[in-house]
Amino acid sequence: MTMLRGRCLCGAVTWSSAGPVTRNLVCHCENCQRATSSPFTAFVGLPSDAVTWTGDVTHFESSPGTHRGFCPACGSRLYFRSDRWPEEIHIHAATLADQSGYRPDAQVVLAERAAWLDHLDAADRHEGFHKAPGGAR
Ligand SMILES: [Zn+2]
Ligand SMILES: [Zn+2]
Repeated sequence: MTMLRGRCLCGAVTWSSAGPVTRNLVCHCENCQRATSSPFTAFVGLPSDAVTWTGDVTHFESSPGTHRGFCPACGSRLYFRSDRWPEEIHIHAATLADQSGYRPDAQVVLAERAAWLDHLDAADRHEGFHKAPGGAR
């Protein structure tokens, strides 16, 4: 197992773990949508005691026994922890320093999946921004 490393947007919080990875999944639940302001989120599950953190992490209890950690400086979401899986922490895969090897093996709570995701294939695609920043033409 290679060392996994990650960080928040501003870099004030970092994490690392030698694993083992206990799950790789994409969660479509409405709470994850609201917590991340995104239509879904991807997680890497790890044993809680196998993860080393640096920097301050704040958490929000989104439902009883469920804690969602974030960087107080930049607001990046870092993890999901629940009393339902007490030995495990689910770290947001988008915080990985290198996401190239990340492969989710499951999608969960599809019953709450954002319906507009079905429209994405029909939307125009652009390698860069759709419109130039600053209103330039
Ligand atoms: Zn940060
Ligand atoms: Zn979720």
